[in-house]
Amino acid sequence: MEPITYQTYRNCTLCPRMCRVDRTRTPGFCGCRDQLTAARAALHQWEEPCISGTSGSGTVFFTGCTLRCCFCQNFSISQEGFGRELSASQLARIFLSLQDKGAHNLNLVTPSHFLPHILDALSQARPALTIPVVYNCGGYERPETIDALAGYVDIYLPDLKYFRSDYSREYSQAKDYFQKASQAILRMIRQAGPPILEPESGLMKKGVIIRHMVLPGAKEDSVKLLHWMKESLPPGGYLLSLLSQYTPFYHAESHPKINRRITSYEYRKVVDEAIRLGLTHGFMQEKSSAKEEYTPPFNLEGLDA
Ligand code: SF4
Repeated sequence: MEPITYQTYRNCTLCPRMCRVDRTRTPGFCGCRDQLTAARAALHQWEEPCISGTSGSGTVFFTGCTLRCCFCQNFSISQEGFGRELSASQLARIFLSLQDKGAHNLNLVTPSHFLPHILDALSQARPALTIPVVYNCGGYERPETIDALAGYVDIYLPDLKYFRSDYSREYSQAKDYFQKASQAILRMIRQAGPPILEPESGLMKKGVIIRHMVLPGAKEDSVKLLHWMKESLPPGGYLLSLLSQYTPFYHAESHPKINRRITSYEYRKVVDEAIRLGLTHGFMQEKSSAKEEYTPPFNLEGLDA
């Protein structure tokens, strides 16, 4: 892959969709042209404890998405285009202002389709930036893009959503999701190395956290993903975050199988299998955590830099 520059927008291959559109003229599948937009930049408490810590994670929510899942809880920004346009210099100032507010890290949420701007902003902020950079993504990435992030990103926080291609096609229009996400995660682990947490604070400094949200009626798919992790990823090379918070947002009502929350039984079966396989480094949720506090208000907070 060519180095990622602003020219990349003119024949976009930033994600596995490989749209090759000229985003100066037209948006690709992600819904975005070549102007970076974001909906919120604020301290966020709802990540894993080693990311949120006590002060919060300095989270920037970008507009648009390369997956556009039918059940997305952030649909107003991921699919309906809400957000404010920002230059790379403004974004760099936002990064530093989050650091000044006490953020434990800089948390880039769904960043891949704006990488030319984001890499520029990180380069501008870098001389003053002392906190780790977290790449918080849906897992649907090109390995080449992950390689291009070496030196910019300290912590990867990818989802691993589906094993079965019929699920990924129906819910995210990405038949090749597992194929792409599994390769990208291997690259992330190779690049970031095993998890490093500060002994006193427990805050993460480097490494990979794989997030998997159990979907209704799909516990066997979760189990297949756990088996892949056990067989293909280095033991101790990552943390696993098993999420129980699925809520049928957005267009989930058009997909009867996922138009409900998961049951305690479904989540417990997946947790039991993770324990049986020895995948116990990481985080599990109380089943009661399916609350809407996980969706922050998208109100342009923190974007006046
Ligand atoms: S980032 Fe957007 S335009 Fe570029 S390849 Fe991915 S979906 Fe297509």
